[in-house]
Amino acid sequence: MEIRFTKTKNPGVMPPESQLGFGKVFSDHMFIMDYDEEHGWHDHRIVPFSNISLHPASTVLHYGAEVFEGLKAYRTDSGSIRLFRPMENIKRLNSSAERLCLPLVDEEEMLEILKTFVKTEAEWVPHSFGTSLYLRPFMFGNDETLGVHTIKRATLIIIASPSGSYYKEGINPVNIMIESEDVRAVKGGTGYAKCGGNYGASTRAGARAEKKGYSQVLWLDGVERKYIEEVGAMNVMFKIDGEIVTPALTGSILPGITRKSCIEVLRDLGYKVSERLISVDELIDAMKAGKLEEAWGTGTAAVVSPIGKLMYNDEEFLINDRKIGEVTQKLYDILTSIQWGKTEDKFGWICEII
Ligand SMILES: *Cc1c(COP(=O)(O)O)cnc(C)c1O
Repeated sequence: MEIRFTKTKNPGVMPPESQLGFGKVFSDHMFIMDYDEEHGWHDHRIVPFSNISLHPASTVLHYGAEVFEGLKAYRTDSGSIRLFRPMENIKRLNSSAERLCLPLVDEEEMLEILKTFVKTEAEWVPHSFGTSLYLRPFMFGNDETLGVHTIKRATLIIIASPSGSYYKEGINPVNIMIESEDVRAVKGGTGYAKCGGNYGASTRAGARAEKKGYSQVLWLDGVERKYIEEVGAMNVMFKIDGEIVTPALTGSILPGITRKSCIEVLRDLGYKVSERLISVDELIDAMKAGKLEEAWGTGTAAVVSPIGKLMYNDEEFLINDRKIGEVTQKLYDILTSIQWGKTEDKFGWICEII
């Protein structure tokens, strides 16, 4: 594999690190490769960040043929740069692509691509603890026809956005609304795939929650509206009466890498973690009995995000007095110190780049 490189003639300026938000500023370059049936993936290139041009009949614009990933490049105090479990993202990209009949990537080659791209953009990896260079690989069907067929042409792009610390003002618990009308996904659908279409379907409930002062939605299963699935862009975990529980991966839930890592860390610490069905009734009963000790979301962006308030059918429940719980705090400390190189990585999760 060869990656052609065209250097930008207009390098951008990194904003002050304290002013970095999420996904608004982009690095100087982007990676692109194209796919067609005859050539497979070809024309690997790193080019100046720019708009892209698409045929107006391009499949992605009409039929939602798109999958994506999200991971971060972290800088340690010594200046080195690393990724966290990138092969997990690459495997999930392929699993998502398979679901949408998009072409698969060679996993080892994709890892090389990510490393080369991060090296190219190294100066865009911010320095302060909590900040990172967010990497967004995405792939879309790009056939130039309105006919609904399996995809014969595709494009994969990686863009990078320097991101600020998620918790600039300390770890603030979020308010979450349990959604009992719209559903995000059903078994047999695309719930386990990281695809743009899932977000399209989620928008309306998210907007309703925001209007009521809730930042995200907690989804229930699409068949009975009875079992807990996940939160907007995070998986969810609870500590109920001493037991740590999280919904099992039944096909309609996104298999989060942070979720998986939290489970591994918790088991390593000696906690019992159950992956099982959790009904909303069990959760409500636990809240009423004062037995819901902690609730938190897990995802690459925030690592863990404590849930301070839940609303279900217009009834509000406060969790742990809207404070971060002990287990949530432990997970945050352990995962972030591995990611930013403050402690030894005994799990072998770090992929050093520079
Ligand atoms: C990306 C994502 C997550 C979190 O996955 P991580 O690999 O932990 O970042 C959870 N739910 C949805 C719907 C997602 O898109």
